[in-house]
Amino acid sequence: MPAPQNVVAVIFDFDDTLTEDSTSRLLEHHGIDADSFWKRRVNALVEDGWDSALAWMYALLEETEPGKPLAGLSNAALRAFGAELDMYSGLPQLFHDLRSVTAGFGESKPTVEFYIVSGGLEEIIRGSSIANEFRAIRAGRLWENDRGVVSRIKNAVNYTGKTRYLFEINKGLLADEIEKPFAVNEHVAEADRRVPFENMIYVGDGLTDVPSFSLLKARGGLAFGVVDPARLSKARKAWEKLVAPERVKAVCEPKFGETDLLGRLLRLAVEDVCARIELRSQMP
Ligand SMILES: [Mg+2]
Repeated sequence: MPAPQNVVAVIFDFDDTLTEDSTSRLLEHHGIDADSFWKRRVNALVEDGWDSALAWMYALLEETEPGKPLAGLSNAALRAFGAELDMYSGLPQLFHDLRSVTAGFGESKPTVEFYIVSGGLEEIIRGSSIANEFRAIRAGRLWENDRGVVSRIKNAVNYTGKTRYLFEINKGLLADEIEKPFAVNEHVAEADRRVPFENMIYVGDGLTDVPSFSLLKARGGLAFGVVDPARLSKARKAWEKLVAPERVKAVCEPKFGETDLLGRLLRLAVEDVCARIELRSQMP
């Protein structure tokens, strides 16, 4: 029997989408100049041929060596740091409101699930106050040595790496209790996929989100770009790179209350996907 395909998946980037950039905050918390970290050290590695995600994680790990500002950093410390982060306005109420939207659609019994796919550090996200809202969180992971200090890169998430997780959601392979890294390549007929791409809504702010925006655009999903207008140069870049080529439906401020533009659009988007699920279920 084909899958009921009545799940709405709302997928969020984390940094600069749900909260300020958590890696920069971590660096600054430990007295490291974040601007110079990104613009000088990480850029130098990238220019030397490093993948950008591996580059920043490597540069961060260098700071955990004895005598450096992050010496002794553990995954538990990252998680504790995540607990200190303030989420953007309208959270966590948004999650409750989006789940409530489904109540108006009885027949097809749609449900809403939330996911985070981030290039940032997974332990920080898991420590955050909203972590338990998500069916799965996938992001960068660091390995701890036998002294309990993070010292190796376990997982780096970049650009098209994010789309891999969208395919895992599509095939029903993404949940925190599931670790099947190779199963995503197995063939699954469209009708048997748990979450069709047209049931997906993606919210992100950065260039690492562009392949996800493009994938959803091509497959009938909805994508929303987020930008803080206080950071004008970034807003202009977002407009030129995201809206001009029509990759996203809109670029909004990261405010999620029911009277904020993005908050309203997301509530409508979930309602729209639920209505389409209901329509499909009633088709003879
Ligand atoms: Mg981001």
